[in-house]
Amino acid sequence: APALSSGDVIAALATPWGEGGIAVLRLSGDGCTALLDRAFRGRVPLSRTEPWRMRHGHVIDPEGEILDEVLAVRFAAPKSYTGEESGELHCHGGALPAQACLDLLLSLGARLAQPGEFTRRAFANGRLDLSQAEAVLSVIRSRSREALTAAGRALQGRTGEAFRDLLGRATDLAAHLEALLDFPEEEIPPLEEGDLRAGLRSLKGRTEDLRQRCLGGMLLREGIRVGLVGRPNVGKSSLLNALLQEARAIVTPLPGTTRDLVEAVTTHRGVPLRLVDTAGIRSSADPLEALGIQRARRTLEEADLRVWVVDAGEPLTEEDRELAASLRGKTLLVARNKTDLPEAVSEAALKALVPGCAVCSVSALEGVGLEALKDRMVEVLGGSGTLEGALSITRRQMEALDRTGEALQTAASALEASEWDAAAACLGEARSALAGLTGQDPGEDLLDRVFGEFCIGK
Ligand code: GDP
Ligand code: ZN
Repeated sequence: APALSSGDVIAALATPWGEGGIAVLRLSGDGCTALLDRAFRGRVPLSRTEPWRMRHGHVIDPEGEILDEVLAVRFAAPKSYTGEESGELHCHGGALPAQACLDLLLSLGARLAQPGEFTRRAFANGRLDLSQAEAVLSVIRSRSREALTAAGRALQGRTGEAFRDLLGRATDLAAHLEALLDFPEEEIPPLEEGDLRAGLRSLKGRTEDLRQRCLGGMLLREGIRVGLVGRPNVGKSSLLNALLQEARAIVTPLPGTTRDLVEAVTTHRGVPLRLVDTAGIRSSADPLEALGIQRARRTLEEADLRVWVVDAGEPLTEEDRELAASLRGKTLLVARNKTDLPEAVSEAALKALVPGCAVCSVSALEGVGLEALKDRMVEVLGGSGTLEGALSITRRQMEALDRTGEALQTAASALEASEWDAAAACLGEARSALAGLTGQDPGEDLLDRVFGEFCIGK
């Protein structure tokens, strides 16, 4: 991408291409009002009107032809989205008038904006912190009301505030610790030592609380990929259908007939659940079926969560046991299906087979236990309790928060062992991870990554 020379006039269509009520063209940068005035004819030039007020007029090309009847507005710095001198043209909806007006603005010296460039300028001018900028994208991408609420909180600056608060506390603790490092080891006042430990405990607690809220936001934003596994005929397709409450997968009494993966998305407590039926993973001589099996394996590897479906009406088979063994150590839930039939496999037997794993008893046929199963899917991935107070966060932010938590944990252990230098080093790591979150001094590549995901005109 070409280097950004902030301040030059950028322009873009801010609404989607195609027919609509209105199409909004957006400009930002020093001199954009003067540029607009060369295209816009109103009762008075925009530069002589009050900012932030809509004006009626026409867009006229250099030959004097009317391109469109528009509403125009200018925003005076710093009270605009970007913090720069900005403006908007509201054209009649439809690709052609908007395109003609945009072409005119470009011919008059504006440059077509890069993806996310308006928001990037807003960030550069201090209108948004980095987590707010990242939240803009979460707002746009939200797929449920709950996700939108979590993104809205981040957009208001709550995540940035929380990150800065943690960084401030970590910095205070580090300063406190540095001061103690000047004492000879045996002379550190016990009271100080206690204070320090308590301070670190409280910081760890706050970090963990925030992590929980962010985990909720992550789930709301990214959803969960769930792979349904189990030997043929245990009811995977039926369960998928029941969870979706619509006939998406083909239910059949013949084993091994679902060759292709069947995938669908449903939303539970605002969390998108991407359910994939990885039909009958076993060896096959049929090349087409073998291909399907390969894909199923890959899906299974990439899933966030596996749900092992078991037929409760039939004794466990060797195939069941092999599958259970291959799933050990993965993020797993057991769905004990067909509980409407006389019991041949108990919950206790399954718990013994996969220790520490939650077992949900369901009947796909009668629609029993499905809500509890979906609750568990969200809970296993960390959306414990309620998702209220969730804060939207990106994967990048989550990784940094995880690093912070780990560094604080190591610092606490070091402090317990009175290893002061080690504790100071870990605290330093936590602070650098937090600094990456508050967006102090972000690198160009980080900004490219964050804003590259936006569309042009945002
Ligand atoms: P898959 O091969 O694992 O996808 O299994 P299917 O979903 O195709 O189901 C196999 C058979 O089990 C079908 O005849 C279903 O009607 C039946 N089945 C599925 N779930 C239940 C259930 O909860 N109770 C009972 N009684 N039968 C079920
Ligand atoms: Zn099936």
